[in-house]
Amino acid sequence: MSDRVCDFCNGVPTCEYPCADFDSLAWLPDAIESTGPWLACSTCSFLIDAGDWSELADRALAVIGKYNESHEALVMRNRILVFHCEFREHRTGSMEPVR
Ligand SMILES: [Zn+2]
Repeated sequence: MSDRVCDFCNGVPTCEYPCADFDSLAWLPDAIESTGPWLACSTCSFLIDAGDWSELADRALAVIGKYNESHEALVMRNRILVFHCEFREHRTGSMEPVR
């Protein structure tokens, strides 16, 4: 059994998006390095291909239990949006079935 999870919502991944390694600025002052492809479940994959980054951010927020109107949640949501934007900039190809 693989313990890999969707990089967007922690669900069961069905596909992956090739992505170049990059150092994320989204989580400053923490340094986060993204390495290798990003995994996605079927729902997140649909949203990625549809370009629905707002819904993807909401799904990520729900996973970490901060899906509310607090200041902390809004800051976290913005960080997620930046992180996903960085993914878009470093993505190198089309979705592939998970191996
Ligand atoms: Zn997902």
